[in-house]
Amino acid sequence: MPLVSAGARTSTGDGIHLGRSIGAGLQGAGSHLPTFGGLPDPISPGRANWHDRQRLTSERPPWEIYVDREGSRWVAEDEPSIDEKERALTSVPEQTFWTVFDDRALAAATGEQQIVVGKEPEEVRAMANARPGVHAAESVSALAEAAGIDPDGLAATVRAYNAAVVTGVDPDFGRMHLPAPIERGPFYAIRNHAITLVTFQGLDTDADCGVRDEAGVVVPGLFAVGEVIGAAATCGNSFCGGMLLTPALTLGRLLGVRLADQVVSQPPPSTTSVAPVT
Ligand SMILES: Cc1cc2nc3c(=O)[nH]c(=O)nc-3n(C[C@H](O)[C@H](O)[C@H](O)COP(=O)(O)OP(=O)(O)OC[C@H]3O[C@@H](n4cnc5c(N)ncnc54)[C@H](O)[C@@H]3O)c2cc1C
Repeated sequence: MPLVSAGARTSTGDGIHLGRSIGAGLQGAGSHLPTFGGLPDPISPGRANWHDRQRLTSERPPWEIYVDREGSRWVAEDEPSIDEKERALTSVPEQTFWTVFDDRALAAATGEQQIVVGKEPEEVRAMANARPGVHAAESVSALAEAAGIDPDGLAATVRAYNAAVVTGVDPDFGRMHLPAPIERGPFYAIRNHAITLVTFQGLDTDADCGVRDEAGVVVPGLFAVGEVIGAAATCGNSFCGGMLLTPALTLGRLLGVRLADQVVSQPPPSTTSVAPVT
């Protein structure tokens, strides 16, 4: 499965490669958790634009549905816990899904109700069929064709969702916020890929920030703090607010002070006497 990043372009794993090149071991294997991210980057397919992210359910009750490549829904879109949704996303094929909505939903998405942060309805319409991953079409089946979603699957899902709006009951996922059917064209689909926001696996370190090799033995003179030790070292298999930046700053300072003290307490290098120039 391709990884899609919303991190800095300079975050390319050099620190991990450097440690590995001299035998460092790794910690945190298997603890990856993706997050919801931004629109596909227009230039780099492996990147998403974090500043073009869609608004989360905690910020705005959704009018849209989320479907996978088969056109099937996979979660209650109004689930308030982003953690629940991120974990559900790990079982979506290719970790790729589309938010699907109609023009009535888009027209209502103004101000703090915007679907894409900072984008009024006209701006979203202008992006459709112009930006990668942003599609619009006059019918649901044409939308599916354009986006690469199974047309029959999407048509069946939209029918079932619209029926749930009428009855007020979503038998599939128990979604409670059912404001309007998806029925008024144009119809829109925005592609989303699970985002690798931070690296969960990293260099294996001991309690003194010394890097250990594959056998668990400290590599003399090699230390690591920050994201290079992997998010799993401080967060496990989850996102804990501030638990990347805070340990990076704190451990970095503690280690820096300790190493500086060691340098100061060492005797200065011996000087050899030089014969005076005559
Ligand atoms: C969008 C986003 C939101 C986030 N939100 C949060 C949050 O709310 N709370 C939280 O705790 N964490 C958050 N994080 C994670 C947090 O920002 C990082 O884990 C943290 O900044 C890592 O700090 P660092 O000093 O280890 O590495 P970095 O901040 O990545 O610094 C590494 C530096 O090394 C430079 N560099 C790379 N390669 C080389 C090289 N070969 N030679 C010289 N220099 C090089 C880079 O340019 C960079 O300046 C977020 C991350 C992202 C991407």
